[in-house]
Amino acid sequence: MYAGAGRAGSGPVEGARPVLYDAVLLDRDGTLIEDVPYNGDPEKVRPVPGARAALDRLRAAGLRLAVVTNQSGLARGYFSEEQMRAVHARVEELLGRFDAWLVCPHDDADGCDCRKPAPGLVHAAARELGTSASRCVVVGDIGRDVAAALAAGAAGVLVPTPVTRPEEIAAAGWLASDLPAAVDEILRRQQAVHPVSGAAGERVGTALVVRSDSAGDVLVTGPAIRAVAAGAQRVVLLCGPRGRAAADLLPGIDEIIEHPLPWIDPTPAPVDPDAMRSLTARLAAVGADQAVVFTSFHQSALPLALLLRMAGIGRIAAISDDYPGSLLDVRHRVPVGVPEPERALSLAAAAGHRLPVDDEPVLRLRPGALPPRPAHLGDPGYVVLHPGSAASSRACPLELAARIAGSLTAAGHRVLVTGGPEERDVTARVAAAGGTDLGGRTDLPGLAAIVADASAVVVGNTGPAHLAAAAGVPVVSLFAPTVPFGQWGPYRVPTVRLGDAGAPCRDTRAASCPVPGHPCVSGVDPAEVVDAVRVLAVSGGGGR
Ligand SMILES: [Zn+2]
Repeated sequence: MYAGAGRAGSGPVEGARPVLYDAVLLDRDGTLIEDVPYNGDPEKVRPVPGARAALDRLRAAGLRLAVVTNQSGLARGYFSEEQMRAVHARVEELLGRFDAWLVCPHDDADGCDCRKPAPGLVHAAARELGTSASRCVVVGDIGRDVAAALAAGAAGVLVPTPVTRPEEIAAAGWLASDLPAAVDEILRRQQAVHPVSGAAGERVGTALVVRSDSAGDVLVTGPAIRAVAAGAQRVVLLCGPRGRAAADLLPGIDEIIEHPLPWIDPTPAPVDPDAMRSLTARLAAVGADQAVVFTSFHQSALPLALLLRMAGIGRIAAISDDYPGSLLDVRHRVPVGVPEPERALSLAAAAGHRLPVDDEPVLRLRPGALPPRPAHLGDPGYVVLHPGSAASSRACPLELAARIAGSLTAAGHRVLVTGGPEERDVTARVAAAGGTDLGGRTDLPGLAAIVADASAVVVGNTGPAHLAAAAGVPVVSLFAPTVPFGQWGPYRVPTVRLGDAGAPCRDTRAASCPVPGHPCVSGVDPAEVVDAVRVLAVSGGGGR
């Protein structure tokens, strides 16, 4: 690939380093300028409306800018490299300077690592700008741009044009109506994780943080809990029984209180007054100076806020669209579509806390939390296939999982099939098609240890996908669109999304598939999974 311009060397600005993003990588044709196929003529360069002002807002916010563009016209001889450089000079004349230009000159037949949707250009741009792909956001007009971003572990914004295919729009986790709107949302998200001025006070004594629900929910709240921990002398976490094992894996927590909040559960148990009275007494005994209640977008923080008030906690922060009256001191609101970890980080910021500048906003596991991985599993570098899910609507069908195991094995991968004790029958039958059956043989820390040494994890949108993200392991996501991908996709880790994003189960939040045949996932071709594992092996030359 061509790494143009030669402006590397000036690293991220120290001290003012943005928390979420260091850089914005922009597709060229159809995103920055009108798409003129195979254009070698500077006179034909036409910026999209509002481009210059939008880019200048990014520059003013301290973000570095690069162009990442497929130019197969070079491989096909439709224009020369010199003509292309003249076009780029004209683009800079009209839109201002870019810190780097990354061009793939190949076409699909070359099978290179840089032609989008492969992630090579994104990794190369990040490297040239002195950052990592996970600290970049890519803006593009077609599915290839977003796929390249996700495969590198970057965020991807799709700005559709009339040529963007409907399925690409359906699959995008982050959509914007035009380039200025994309830039507005990038800056808004960046700003939302910084404490508003005045909110950041002195370090609080004890902070009570709350995240009920299941393992995945607790894992995606990890960055926000670390932000609170950075601003508190002591952090006590209230979690539910389904999230306890995950809570034990998180850094930044000094004490855990495990107690169910029945109103959070999909099949809620009755509220037992005695249990609530004893919980209130237990929470009062924490002596917290502040409470931060983290919830999913469909949950209410208010019932617990009332208990916290009764426990005498003086300052309570939560996200609430419902009117909280005197139940909350910090009522925070978040637009739909924001990734759950960022949603939680923005609440922590509203409560006065931010991640330290040396802590990346990625999911993490506590050092030393994982047991040793069983030696008989051999060297790292295997593929973990996890077909099950607590919600059957988000599981991989047995028959498909077996074909995936067979195809991965045939492609030369060692496959470990994992699952809970109640999934042993499934994992045994999947592993019979190729792989080692580990169903029911691991607790959550043991599963995390196995996942941590994988080269990739093939899994639906369920807890182990977030476990992989927390271990920094790439994910082939068989994503059932019952919940938004933009909120629940694997966070800041190289990901390939597979499955039908426009299936009828979309946004139903159904726990069991409402559509006969589970079509959102069952149509995945095992060859796509093998290809995804290959794409995810394209690396930026160094992890975190
Ligand atoms: Zn290439």
